[in-house]
Amino acid sequence: RQRVTVIGAGLAGSEAAWQLAKRGIQVDLYEMRPVRQTPAHHTDQFAELVCSNSLRANGLQNAVGVLKEEMRTLDSLILKAADTASVPAGGALAVDRHEFAGFITEKLKNHENVTVHTEELKEIPEGIVIVATGPLTSPDLSASLKAFTGEDYLYFYDAAAPILDGDTIDRDKVYLKSRYDKGEAAYLNCPMTEEEFDVFYEELVKAEVVPLKEFEKEIYFEGCMPFEVMAQRGKKTLLFGPMKPVGLEDPKTGKRPYAVVQLRQDNSAGTLYNLVGFQTHLKWGEQKRIIRLIPGLENADIVRYGVMHRNTFINSPSLLKPTYQARTRDTLFFAGQMTGVEGYVESAASGLLAGINAAKMIAGEELVVLPRETMLGSMAHYITTADGKHFQPMNANFGLVPTLEDAPKKMKKQERYERYANRALETIQQFKDL
Ligand code: FAD
Repeated sequence: RQRVTVIGAGLAGSEAAWQLAKRGIQVDLYEMRPVRQTPAHHTDQFAELVCSNSLRANGLQNAVGVLKEEMRTLDSLILKAADTASVPAGGALAVDRHEFAGFITEKLKNHENVTVHTEELKEIPEGIVIVATGPLTSPDLSASLKAFTGEDYLYFYDAAAPILDGDTIDRDKVYLKSRYDKGEAAYLNCPMTEEEFDVFYEELVKAEVVPLKEFEKEIYFEGCMPFEVMAQRGKKTLLFGPMKPVGLEDPKTGKRPYAVVQLRQDNSAGTLYNLVGFQTHLKWGEQKRIIRLIPGLENADIVRYGVMHRNTFINSPSLLKPTYQARTRDTLFFAGQMTGVEGYVESAASGLLAGINAAKMIAGEELVVLPRETMLGSMAHYITTADGKHFQPMNANFGLVPTLEDAPKKMKKQERYERYANRALETIQQFKDL
C-alpha cells in the first residue's frame, strides 16, 4: 500500500498527518526534535507553540475566526486540541500550551496508521511527501530545498512591510501615479507637507521596536533595513530613501510634496496594498499609530503587520499549485509557514489541505481546490497567485476574499465582514465530507 512521508510534526505536519491517518492512509511522520532542536522550540512535543499561546480571534467578525470555524468543519486535529485545551482569553482562542501539544502528540503517536520517526531528514525523499518543516527548517534540509527550488526561490528571513485593506485608504487624499509617469500608473501616493513629515518623523524615532532574538540578528546584515532604523540615521535618510518625492508631483496641484509614502497593489483584485520600503520591526500597536499619521491612511486597517524574523519560505507564486503541490513534481506537497502562510492557524490550515490532497492522490481522486469565498481557499489562492517578485508571507484576512457583488458602496465594515463570514461558512458546508 502506498504511504505518505510527512516531514516535520509542527502545526502543519501534525494536521496533515492526522488528515491522512483518519482516511486510512499509512503515514511516516519525521520529527527531528528532541534529537535536534530548533533555535525556538524547547520540548519534544508535536505542534509546540514557539511563542504566544494564542491562536488569535475566535469570533466570526474576524478572518482568522472564520478560518478556524472552517477547519472545525473539516475535522481539524489542531482545532480539536485547541478547543480542548482552551483557557479564558476574551474573544481569542488561547490554550494551555502543554495540554494542547500533549493532546496532538498522543493522538498521532497512538494512531495505528502513523509511524513516528524521531529523525532529521536531510533530503527530500521519493514517493508522496509533504514538507512541513517550518520557519526554522534544519540547515541540511534547507540546502536540499534550495537545490530543488533554485537559489532565488527559497528565503531565510522575512522582512515585510505592513499590508493595508484597500477599502480603508482615503482615496480623496492619495493619487495614482508612477515615479516620472514611467509605465502604467501603478502606485497610490500619500503626499506629505513638511509639517506632516516632521510630526511623523518625531513620533517614529520615539516608537518602540520588538527586540530581535539572538538567532535573528543576522537579518540586519542582509541589507534590508527597517524604516525606523533608517529614520534613526537622520531626518534626510527617509527623504532620500522610501519617502523620496521626486517625480511624484501631485496631479491635482502639479506641485511636488515634501515627502511621499507609496502604496503598491498587493493582490490582483486590488483589495490589498503594501507600503513600499516600509519593512519594519516596530511593535504592532506602534505600527498602527505611526501609519495613521500618514495622510490618506488616518483610518487604514492593517491586515498584515510588518515583521522581520527568521523564516524559511519558498516563492509559492512560482513553485506551488493551489493544491499545495509543487508545480514540477506532483507527488511533492509543501505545507505550513514554508509556503508563505503566516501564523499558527494558517500553517495548520495549509497542512489540512495538503493532507487531504495527498490522501486524494492515493485514492486516485481529483485533488481539491477550495473556492476563494472560503478562507482556506483564499489563502491557497493568494500564495499561488501573488506577485512573485515581491512575495511576502500572509495572514488570513478579509482582503483576500472576492468582494460582494451586490453590496452597496458604503457598507459598514462590520456588516461586510459578517457577510464574508456567512458566505465562507455556507460554502465550506458543501465540502465537509471531502
Ligand atoms: P513548525 O510548527 O515550526 O513545525 C516544523 C517542525 O519541523 C518542527 O517541529 C521542527 O522541529 C521540524 N523540523 C525542521 N526541520 C526538520 C527536518 N529536517 N527533519 C525533521 N523535522 C524537522 N505564529 C503565530 O501565530 N503566533 C506567534 O506567536 C508566533 N510566534 C513565532 C515565533 C517565532 C520565533 C517563529 C520562528 C515563528 C512564530 N510564528 C508565530 C509563526 C508560525 O506560525 C509558527 O512558526 C508555526 O509554528 C509554523 O508552523 P509550521 O508547521 O509551518 O512549523
